Amino acid sequence: MRIDTRLVRAGLGTDPRTGAVSTPIHPSATFAHPGLGQSTGFDYSRTANPTRRVLEQALAEVEGGARAFAFPSGMAALTTLCLLFRPGDHLVASDDLYGGTYRLFERVFREYGLEVTYTDTTAPESVGAALRPNTRALLVENPTNPLLKVADLEALGRLARDRGLVFVVDSTFLTPYLQRPLELGADIVVHSATKFLGGHNDLLAGVLVAREPEWAERIEFLHNTTGAVLDPFSSWLLVRSLKTLAVRVERQCRTAEAVARFLLGHPEVTRVYYPGLPDHPGREILERQARGFGAVVSFRLRSADQVSGFLESLRLATFAESLGGAETLVTVPSRQTHCDMPPEVRERLGVTDDLVRLSVGLENPEDLIADLDRALQGESG
Ligand code: PLP
Repeated sequence: MRIDTRLVRAGLGTDPRTGAVSTPIHPSATFAHPGLGQSTGFDYSRTANPTRRVLEQALAEVEGGARAFAFPSGMAALTTLCLLFRPGDHLVASDDLYGGTYRLFERVFREYGLEVTYTDTTAPESVGAALRPNTRALLVENPTNPLLKVADLEALGRLARDRGLVFVVDSTFLTPYLQRPLELGADIVVHSATKFLGGHNDLLAGVLVAREPEWAERIEFLHNTTGAVLDPFSSWLLVRSLKTLAVRVERQCRTAEAVARFLLGHPEVTRVYYPGLPDHPGREILERQARGFGAVVSFRLRSADQVSGFLESLRLATFAESLGGAETLVTVPSRQTHCDMPPEVRERLGVTDDLVRLSVGLENPEDLIADLDRALQGESG
C-alpha cells in the first residue's frame, strides 16, 4: 500500500464491534479490569488510551518506525526527547532552529546540565567539527525554521552512525507524506503535529517516532512517567486529519511553488527562500530524499519598515503564529516565533526584522497571489 492509501485508512477497522468507519473517541480516564492480574490491554489513559493508540499506530506505520507517541504539543515531545539524555551530555543541533526549541535548550535544559552546540547542519563537515567526546545526539530540523535550509539526511545519518550518536530529525515542515527520515538514517523523528499533520489550525499536538524498539521503550517509559500525553479528542482530530494529509500537502506545495515564483519577480521583495526554487542549494537534496518541497516560503521585504504596512494590507493571509493549516498564515519570525533568540544570534543567522514567513494554505492560488501583490504594493484591502 502506498502512503496516501495508508493515510486515508488511518483508524479504519479499529472497532469491529460496531464497524464504525470513523474510529471512536474513548474519553475514559481508566478501564475496568476483568479480574486480578487481568487487563483488557488498557488500564489507565496516561499509560495507553484506545483512541491515542489508533493515532500512534497510524503514525508509526506512515513514518516506518517501531512505535510512535503522541504528546499535547510539539514542545512536550521535544521536552521528553531531552529527558532521554543526562547531565553532562552534549547535543549538536541546527543553528537555524525553531525559537521555542532553542529556548527549551538554553533556558531549561542547560540548567540541568545538557549543553547544545548550534551549527550549520547543511554542511556535514561543520557538524563533524562541533562534535565532542560527550556528544550524544544530533538534532536537525529539515528544512529549518524559518530560513528553509536543507540538510543531506543520508550523509548526516552515516556520520551519526559512525560516531554512535542518536540522530533526531524534526520533520514538521515536510510530514511523512513528503519525507521519511527514519528510512534515511534517523533514529527518532519529531513533529509539531499542530502544523501540517493537524492541518486545520485547530489543535496542538506533538509526536515522537522511534525507529528501533530500544528507543521506543525508553520513550514509552518517559511518556507514561511524565504524563505529557495527548487527550482522546485531539487524538481523534489528528486521525481525522491524517486522512487528508496527502491531498492537502500536494495542493499546498503546488501553491507554495507558484507563490515563491511570484515573490521572486516582485520589486518589493529582495530575497525568497523556498527549497523548490531552481537556485535553492537544497533543491537537489530534496529531489533525492523527499517527495516535495513543502509549503513554507520565507522572504525579505526591501526594508523592515514596510513589514507592518504589508501585514495590515493583507486581506486573505492572516497575521498569526503557526503554519501548516488550511488557512494561509504570515509570521514575522524575529518578533514572534524566534523572539527568544538573542538579537545577535538572530542577526548572525539572518532572522532579521525584514524577514516574513508565509505558510501557504488551501486558498485558490490566484486569490492568494493577488492578495500578496496588493499588500506588497501597500494598498489596504
Ligand atoms: N518544531 C518546529 C519545527 C516548529 O515549527 C514548532 C512550532 O512552531 C515546534 C517544533 C513546536 O511545536 P508546538 O508549537 O506544537 O509546541
